[in-house]
Amino acid sequence: MDYQSFFRQALEDLQAEGRYRVFADLEREAGQFPFARNHRDGKTERVTVWCSNDYLGMGQHEVVLDAMRAALDAAGAGAGGTRNISGTNHNHVLLERELADLHGKDAALVFTSGYVANETALMTLGSRLPDCNIFSDSLNHASMIAGIRHSGARRHIFRHNDVADLERKLRDADPNAARIVAFESVYSMDGDIAPIGEICDVAHKYGALTYLDEVHAVGMYGAQGAGVAERDGVQGKVDVVQGTLAKAFGVIGGYVASSPELVDFIRSFGAGFIFTSALPPSIAAGALASVRHLRRHPEIRARHQERAATLKGKLLAAGLPVMASDSHIVPLFVGDAERCKRASDLLLQQHRIYVQPINYPTVPRGAERLRLTPTPLHDDAMINDLIRALLDVWSRLGLLRAAAE
Ligand SMILES: *Cc1c(COP(=O)(O)O)cnc(C)c1O
Repeated sequence: MDYQSFFRQALEDLQAEGRYRVFADLEREAGQFPFARNHRDGKTERVTVWCSNDYLGMGQHEVVLDAMRAALDAAGAGAGGTRNISGTNHNHVLLERELADLHGKDAALVFTSGYVANETALMTLGSRLPDCNIFSDSLNHASMIAGIRHSGARRHIFRHNDVADLERKLRDADPNAARIVAFESVYSMDGDIAPIGEICDVAHKYGALTYLDEVHAVGMYGAQGAGVAERDGVQGKVDVVQGTLAKAFGVIGGYVASSPELVDFIRSFGAGFIFTSALPPSIAAGALASVRHLRRHPEIRARHQERAATLKGKLLAAGLPVMASDSHIVPLFVGDAERCKRASDLLLQQHRIYVQPINYPTVPRGAERLRLTPTPLHDDAMINDLIRALLDVWSRLGLLRAAAE
């Protein structure tokens, strides 16, 4: 077999569809967020980043950087092993305590990423609970899908955020089997929010465990930043909450928080937790500082929501096709992979504005979009600048203007 031509052909097909991924070569400049330097064609230029998941700018916050520098000097670079074999650092222990407390749970477990946390937790539960059936929202993230697939559990996919459809599927499944209902709070591409309390009530009526991914909500929703379940007063109904330390908390890593028994079970049987080296102590210290800071500063969350509302209002007023969203995520409809890529290129080349195109398979074909993520650090001038640039690109490419939804 000619392996190289096989690879080349697959990549050419992606290119022909306009959905070949090209990474922006960015240099983040600590203290300058949301500005960054972009390397392109041998030159660099300063751009405004409008698509970062560093939702609150904590990746450059002095409180986080100071904690990381101190831990780096005190403890060195790497953790030195897996959690079981010499790799557990006191910073991991403190971070897990803090995360459990944040979510009103008795235990938490940290993983190397949010992806690994989802994959490992769902794979471990789904493969070891007797005859496990997993009920999964149709728009669940790839990391949950991977965990569910690899667990070998029976999969039931319910319509997105549809409590009645979930109930039908729970009612029809084997009453003696173990069950898990897995879903997200904020869905990251549409920015819509799950009815968490209702989903948990139906799940518990049929004896299921509830598993909630709050990756796009932790740090940002609820009085202390525990997520939408905290905001809605339903934290007690969520049996397992999963989160990331890499988005609003600005560092890297993922976690689950739950009962001591369930957490100890995953700690003791989860391959993706056991057989990999622990996060560096400086990472755990930075994440801990970030979580603590955001718990105490609700005004950062208020400013974040205000910025998102202001951006949505200005896009609407300008006649740009902002899609309905209940959260800080602001999707702009394009509806075509090729033109979505062109719009993104023009924004960068003509206006020094960086927004990555979002194409299939991240969103369905025909639903291609630009996904804007305003942060507390995007000021009015940056918003006005963005609107002017979008209007220019929209008219150059003849893109749809009416609201899409
Ligand atoms: C980004 C993401 C993850 C993975 O988190 P990482 O820490 O980036 O690995 C999990 N779930 C959802 C919904 C995500 O968007």
